Amino acid sequence: MHCPFCEAQDTKVIDSRLVADGASVRRRRECADCGERFTTFEMAELIMPRVIKSDGTREPFNEDKLRNGLLRALEKRPVGIEAIEQAINQVKASLRATGEREVTSQFIGGLVMEQLKSLDKVAYIRFASVYRAFTDIREFGEEIARLND
Ligand SMILES: [Zn+2]
Repeated sequence: MHCPFCEAQDTKVIDSRLVADGASVRRRRECADCGERFTTFEMAELIMPRVIKSDGTREPFNEDKLRNGLLRALEKRPVGIEAIEQAINQVKASLRATGEREVTSQFIGGLVMEQLKSLDKVAYIRFASVYRAFTDIREFGEEIARLND
């Protein structure tokens, strides 16, 4: 870590503590050259897995796509934007937690369905009918019946 005052390369950590519930580390550093002190924050960077599409091609994870899918399913439903953003964060957290470098779009669809199930049942059915492409009407009916359990 360069010293921001004199750009010397040699700085040493004089104090280190966890902040924000352990999500990041705050460090006090001191420059060995000029003696100035400064603070750095370190955060773990977790990389989103890439998405394997149903045709086998890969693409980077796209948060906008996820958001649009949720918004489409939740159109005209009584669910606030904050709850939607929370659902997006949950899906992203689950994706990171897999530790996988690649996940199938189907897997992501399953995570979205889980979120929608607790947010809004109508939206869940909307999403499920498109996403899962139910093979027959009976299967679809069974899914709806399960919601009432
Ligand atoms: Zn310095």
